[in-house]
Amino acid sequence: MRSGMYVHPWDVVDEGARNVFSFISRTRMEFINLAVSYHSGRFFLPHNPTKKVYYADEGVIYFDPAKDDFRSSKLKPVKSSSYADRDILKESVDIAHDYGITVNAWTVCLHNGRFAVEYPELAVENMYGEKDMNFLCPVKSDSSRYVKSLIMSLATGYDIGEIELESAFFPSAFIHGVHHEVMGIRITPVMSYLLSTCFCTDCVASARSKGINLNESRKHAISYIHDQVLRMGDISDPEEAVDPGLDQALMLSGFEDIISFKNEVSRDLLTEYSEAANEAGTEISIVSTGRGLAGSGIGLEFPSRTIKALDLIAYYQNISEIKRDVSLIRMKVPRNVSVRTGINLTYPYAYNASRLHKSVDAALSAGSDSIIFYNYGWATENIIEELQNLH
Ligand SMILES: [Zn+2]
Repeated sequence: MRSGMYVHPWDVVDEGARNVFSFISRTRMEFINLAVSYHSGRFFLPHNPTKKVYYADEGVIYFDPAKDDFRSSKLKPVKSSSYADRDILKESVDIAHDYGITVNAWTVCLHNGRFAVEYPELAVENMYGEKDMNFLCPVKSDSSRYVKSLIMSLATGYDIGEIELESAFFPSAFIHGVHHEVMGIRITPVMSYLLSTCFCTDCVASARSKGINLNESRKHAISYIHDQVLRMGDISDPEEAVDPGLDQALMLSGFEDIISFKNEVSRDLLTEYSEAANEAGTEISIVSTGRGLAGSGIGLEFPSRTIKALDLIAYYQNISEIKRDVSLIRMKVPRNVSVRTGINLTYPYAYNASRLHKSVDAALSAGSDSIIFYNYGWATENIIEELQNLH
């Protein structure tokens, strides 16, 4: 079985890189996806020797770009304040080498509240003209230039396996989990899709160049959301409210123009990012769900050779859903794209031996090329030990 694991940079420093990689190599992992650019969060770290509840900085990096890597980029990356004097990517690559483990760069791109606050003109703008303070619009040239600078900096500065891009396109959903996020209305998948769509002037202009009138779509979206909020009162029992599939519901509601616009933008960006990576001697992989990434514009039709691997988020309590998603993805994604199923080692997923073995078997029997475990720092030591018994 081929496998790897997501690792956060603070665990590498706090536990010591050699301890982390020696532990991981005992479980026979071939690679890790190390977070090198990451968002904030509040995490419980069961086996970290120096912290238990950790607040991570928002929108920071954990490596040292070369001096000129971001010269052409308006957005200059900020290093984590907690690890300002460490190049955790370099430390990891150096030590991982001794254990025969490849380090991939897990890179959060446009989901960056720090940049959205500092450069509100680059933030996603919703249908009401309000800024999303968590996400930059991918259509803005400053945003895509930043992503490409990240790719070039990582690929040329470090001996990494590949770059896994996260949030490099449109936001995938509306609900995000920001501090005290409360909505009080029922957010259907269609509403989530529309409320996370960008209608900024650059998006309107880009859509116009593709023959799409995004301003018309915006008016339609505003009236659709208005109607949905009013109709919420007709639901007699919240338990019984069901939603049709997203794509079909969007089409039936007359939003095919938005789908075409986002898909076209994201497909072009994927090609650009992939070319930048190839030029710098590496490849990219992306994270996705079994149905694509909803609002991001990334479906499951990848132009040939744009991505090396698709990391499938298959975090389910009901293990049969892992099998369903892997089968679906394996059917849709080209054969030359490696499907790596993400198995979540945290509660309430594959947190014990029985659920772990069943989850991995489900993914492999459905045609997964490898498994990527999520993640080193949040999982218990016991379940990471158990990974040794999978082979
Ligand atoms: Zn935009």
